[in-house]
Amino acid sequence: MLVDAGAGKAFGPDAGGRLLNSLRAAGYRPEDIDAVLLTHLHGDHFAGLTAEGKAVFPNATVYVEKNEADFWLDASKEKTVPEVFRPFFPQAAAAFAPYLAANKVKKFSGSTELLPGVRSIATPGHTPGHAFYAVESKGQQMQFWGDLIHAKDVQFRSPGVTIKFDLDSAAAARQRLKAMTDAAAKGYYVGASHISFPGIGHVVPEGKAFTWLPANYSVAGLKP
Ligand SMILES: [Zn+2]
Repeated sequence: MLVDAGAGKAFGPDAGGRLLNSLRAAGYRPEDIDAVLLTHLHGDHFAGLTAEGKAVFPNATVYVEKNEADFWLDASKEKTVPEVFRPFFPQAAAAFAPYLAANKVKKFSGSTELLPGVRSIATPGHTPGHAFYAVESKGQQMQFWGDLIHAKDVQFRSPGVTIKFDLDSAAAARQRLKAMTDAAAKGYYVGASHISFPGIGHVVPEGKAFTWLPANYSVAGLKP
């Protein structure tokens, strides 16, 4: 399973596009991916699904929340949103095309069990159908937060601060406070797309808000 598919070449030839090399470094080929779980349909999270019209993950089913897919895959919505969001519509159409043609897109509604031990958590705000994914095994949980947070040094301290890429700012701020409160209380691991490497860690209460405790890592990598 892969959570989000990266930007591919959506931001130009020199920005992003490193996901496949990172996957290979972790010991996986694109063909090994059975499921891509998309948190939401902003180009930096899905455009890497497809390259030159072909599915990058030929054996994968793409999971996406229904409200999210119905919004960004509907070209008539493009003119209803501010300028910054408009490129995502043609990007989504292109990225989804080979998967839709192969009947490999699975839309789900809200919070639901998708695969054994894997469930979505509805967190609309940043986008209409933004979803977290929670993975549970042997009493442990990890949550993948997508774009719940963009600026670590600001938004753990002040969860009410929003960015212009939040389609519904007030809802996005509410989701952030709720998620951080839950993670700090329960202590599970969190992965967040826009927190720099390792991007995985714990949320810890600090004063009236929170702080981020990154997971330990070694630049030497894992021993085989
Ligand atoms: Zn986003």
